[in-house]
Amino acid sequence: MKVLKFGGSSVANATSIKQVGKIIANHTGSEKQLVVVSALGGITDQLISIGQLASSGDESYKQVLQSIELRHLDTARELLPVTSQSSCLSMIKQYCNELEDICEGVFRLQELSLRTKDRIISFGELLSSKIVAAYIQSLNENVQWLDSRAVIKTNSNFGYAAVDFTSTDQLVNAVVYGSTALVFLAPGFIASNNSGQTTTLGRGGSDYTAAIFASALKAKVLEIWTDVSGMMTADPRWVSNARPIPHISYQEAMELSHFGAKVIYPPTIQPVMSNKIPTWVKNTFAPHDNGTLIETGYANGKDKIRGISSINHVALLSLEGSGMVGIPGFSKRLFEALANEQVNVILITQSSSEHSICVAINEADISKAKSTVDKAFEIEIATGKVEPLSIETDLSIIAVVGDKMKSHPGISGNMFGALGRNGINIRAIAQGSSERNISAVIATTDVKKGVNVLHEAFFEAVYKQLNVFIAGLGNVGSKLLGQIAQQQQYLLDHLKLQLRITGIANSRKMLFADEGINLANWKEQLEQADKSDLNDFAKSIITRNLRNSVFVDVTANADVASIYDKLLVKSISVVACNKIAASSPYENYTKLKSLASEYNASFLFETNVGAGLPVIGTLNDLIKSGDTVNRIEAVLSGTLNFVFNNYNGEKSFSKVVKQAQDEGYTEPDPRLDLGGTDVMRKIMILAREAGNKMEMEDIENNGFLPASCFNGSVADFYDEMEKHETHFKALYNAAKAENCKLKFVASYENDKASVGLQHISPEHDLYHLYGKDNIVLFYTNRYPEQPLVVKGAGAGADVTASGVFADIIRVTV
Ligand code: ADP
Ligand code: ASP
Ligand code: MG
Repeated sequence: MKVLKFGGSSVANATSIKQVGKIIANHTGSEKQLVVVSALGGITDQLISIGQLASSGDESYKQVLQSIELRHLDTARELLPVTSQSSCLSMIKQYCNELEDICEGVFRLQELSLRTKDRIISFGELLSSKIVAAYIQSLNENVQWLDSRAVIKTNSNFGYAAVDFTSTDQLVNAVVYGSTALVFLAPGFIASNNSGQTTTLGRGGSDYTAAIFASALKAKVLEIWTDVSGMMTADPRWVSNARPIPHISYQEAMELSHFGAKVIYPPTIQPVMSNKIPTWVKNTFAPHDNGTLIETGYANGKDKIRGISSINHVALLSLEGSGMVGIPGFSKRLFEALANEQVNVILITQSSSEHSICVAINEADISKAKSTVDKAFEIEIATGKVEPLSIETDLSIIAVVGDKMKSHPGISGNMFGALGRNGINIRAIAQGSSERNISAVIATTDVKKGVNVLHEAFFEAVYKQLNVFIAGLGNVGSKLLGQIAQQQQYLLDHLKLQLRITGIANSRKMLFADEGINLANWKEQLEQADKSDLNDFAKSIITRNLRNSVFVDVTANADVASIYDKLLVKSISVVACNKIAASSPYENYTKLKSLASEYNASFLFETNVGAGLPVIGTLNDLIKSGDTVNRIEAVLSGTLNFVFNNYNGEKSFSKVVKQAQDEGYTEPDPRLDLGGTDVMRKIMILAREAGNKMEMEDIENNGFLPASCFNGSVADFYDEMEKHETHFKALYNAAKAENCKLKFVASYENDKASVGLQHISPEHDLYHLYGKDNIVLFYTNRYPEQPLVVKGAGAGADVTASGVFADIIRVTV
């Protein structure tokens, strides 16, 4: 004897029922098969809504009813040969008439009892099982329809009835072994009480029906056929890398389903476990896939945990008070009060101080729980020994499950470490004494991320995912996307890093894709995307709540720099090419740094100084390893270098600056470079990173631009420079007369910084600096006379993008 169960998606339409037919027809010899089916996918929900509509006096229930009838008629017509359709079609009409009569009663009375509701929803399985039976018969199988209501007996707890196994076992055996049929077709989910009234076994209960039949008949095997290839390491709708579990123990399967793995209805496991019936979960639409085998004993495999699951709509009740300490019976009274109102407790924790006890329940039971517990502790609450029951909502439970957890320390460390690193706050924790599961209560807004984080931590150790959001798609941003596109496969292969661009925005448009934007044609996709809005972009990054998120600012915009704090407090790392935040008032700079460390995120801005050159990284390494920076001398403006390297009095100074701007080396307003502000920001950032509390006002600027150059627009600026050509020529000639070059130098020494034009002679380290190169000399305790030198191209989109790219990768370490 073999029992098979086909779920709602397996019998959703004629095509899938044909697939079911093939699986049933695949039996061997004289072995009997008992087939349990659910209602056609979605029908139970529709039947529930019909009842609700009718009881609230809404006539639209009739349309829903009509569509249900039509769907079943169409399915039967498509499945059955015309010659044998009529009896099935009239059966469908008859059932639907009966259903209509009941609903009309509900509509007239505007009253829907749980008993009537069960009656209404039972038609889903009645109809589907009759249709599938007729189809199997048309395949020439020796089939008998078996009314589950006649053989599965329950109490009268409508909606969630408890099975009387003794009488059920007898009745099932009598019918099945008393018949010569080879295939039995039975509706799942439905049963009856002692008075013969229809009951149901709870949503998803067809799995349970099948297990009840399997255990009554001591079946050789139970097969649960569904729409996925087995029980998986996590809910596949949430975790794209979830994979089927080949082998799992009954206890593990029970824990996973109890904590939300919908693929099996939790009560299903108990009867098959008691009778040691091996149970398969298989895919109707991929019958050759291995599936999952649930059976007794220690299942092998290298994974320390078997799966991760989660439940939503959880509320946490806390009973607290000084009067609880040391007095026995408090918890007994709490649980009794909850049990009296049939409030199901999902998880329990008690602090060792005995000051508080915390239980998780279904959100739907909150008001029952509140009134029963407050009543049970009425006196203690009145005398102040106990606080009124406190309730927190919008919570979920996330659980990791596995028999092997017992013998492997470090699982909880791994679990909570991974959640913590991703900014997921834990409200309560429980570990079963069997050490088969660890569960944590977290905010529902974090649960999808949490499941993914844990899946990555336990099953995908092979690679780590980084979700990157980029603001700014100009010169540098576009180059960055190009470099990432080219390098993605390398990162996956060599660093085990899956770097995905999950959001991009410029000032006009923004585009998101949780699975990663296809970088081959991001420009076209962006054109079709939504209008951009900075706040919406930030909000979207936060609500997406993807693990290991990084925000990359490739703009020069102050508004963009103002959202970093909002992101950091959500554990989203920030990589800034934008210098505004790191050079903002010291208080803001340190606030961002401490938020980053408090929330386990990174705040990196290497490209703020020297573009792609490793300037800040080198300085950080010196400090971290115990060195002290005594003096810095640097040429930090690629623009000014370009200008002074190209200006020799032949072409006007103004034209040389224009050339620098045209070639993309300047800020949009070149006065920020020429006036020294940009260099001041850079030396200030270095001073700060060296440990100094410096502000812009503290820096001496020995500028060389005539004051009038700062008036008016950028265009005016060029005209003004032309007028002052003699001034610039004089600067040049004075340096030349001393055989020197002009360099705009930034210096930092004795806690003071200054910037300004200097005459640099040929023997000086700063002399041989060409094109747009930057140079930084660090004089430290370890490099007292000969400085540590960092030198190379200090501007340009390609090198800047590669510096940003390196910061993004640094986030992962
Ligand atoms: P059926 O209609 O066959 O009873 P269900 O919809 O009740 O099917 O259960 C199958 C669904 O359970 C899958 O499609 C999947 O989306 C969901 N599911 C949730 N958690 C898991 C898990 N750990 N493994 C497999 N499926 C899961
Ligand atoms: N049809 C019922 C439900 O949707 C039972 C089942 O499908 O298992 O809950
Ligand atoms: Mg199901």
